[in-house]
Amino acid sequence: MPRGRGGGGGSNRSASAREGAVLTTVSKFVQGLKPGANNNWLGYCPLHGEVPGRSKPSFSFNSETGLWNCFSGCGGGGLPQLLKLVGRSGTFVDKTMARLRPYLKEPARKSTSSHKEGLFLAQHPLPEKLLGLYEYAPVDLLNTGFDKEVLYQHDIGFDRELGRITYPVRDLSGTLAGIVGKPIGDDGPGKYVVYEKELQEKSKDFRNYSFDNHRFVWRWERVYQRLYCSEEPTIIYVTEGFKACLWMVQHGFPDTVALMGTKLSTVQQKFLERLGGTVILCLDDDHWGRAGTRRIGYKLRGLRVKVIHYPYRYWDLQPDDLTEEELLNAINNAYTYTRWRREWQGAVRSG
Ligand SMILES: [Zn+2]
Repeated sequence: MPRGRGGGGGSNRSASAREGAVLTTVSKFVQGLKPGANNNWLGYCPLHGEVPGRSKPSFSFNSETGLWNCFSGCGGGGLPQLLKLVGRSGTFVDKTMARLRPYLKEPARKSTSSHKEGLFLAQHPLPEKLLGLYEYAPVDLLNTGFDKEVLYQHDIGFDRELGRITYPVRDLSGTLAGIVGKPIGDDGPGKYVVYEKELQEKSKDFRNYSFDNHRFVWRWERVYQRLYCSEEPTIIYVTEGFKACLWMVQHGFPDTVALMGTKLSTVQQKFLERLGGTVILCLDDDHWGRAGTRRIGYKLRGLRVKVIHYPYRYWDLQPDDLTEEELLNAINNAYTYTRWRREWQGAVRSG
């Protein structure tokens, strides 16, 4: 029987082997792990120093997917990211993940609809230690008000050789899938550089490397476990670019993801449909962003879709142009897609 990365199928024996291997590793960092429903475990968060007995545990971990989330605000992500946040080196993470990956399953089981195995996983996983090359604080972002800690947690770096801010893109299990670079001081649309030849030239191991960022949603691995476990209706915020996304995360919207463009690919659409609930579109308020909002809202018509309401319309604003208060208002006053579309069409006709 052919098998993907899911490894040992569904027998009880492999399930316990999986829990054994994965939980042994995680329990080294997370105290007091207790089982809940659907392979979800609850424990004390190692990231904000939770002490057993002093508070309720707020760290949720899924032993099947390796995804985790802290409900007290430390964020979430895949196992590689957890290992790094508790201070392990890239090399350690690569070794550990090579051992544990066969026990992990693709995180996409909320809906019963079928999909191709591996749809949300990296075709060409990259080693974690690669990020070591870009471990420099992007001064440009710090100067425009981005929090150092937020940038660190997202592994935002700088390619000193090519003068670009680097954004790592991960698959839904948290495995590093690609790097996207942004030349500094360049805010125009379509200026992102998807690293392919840059990596092919770096090492023989990457000679056949390829990466299509449209098959990924930026930060999806960070929101999945939280939304998946949540008892409340799912609300997910969707931006166009990395900066807008980070800005929203930094200002109180941890469930924000970025499409890395104004188009919604089939994989991205499947992911959002799998989560269900409400999608709040927060694309830029420029020509491309509005055109994208119109198309995406239509594609997602099976979901509840809302659109951010910028304080000044048609000013080419994007979420990271807004102050915290403006952003909060823009989200609270979000229009339904239908209303947005009606007004937008009116504006196009009169303009
Ligand atoms: Zn925490």
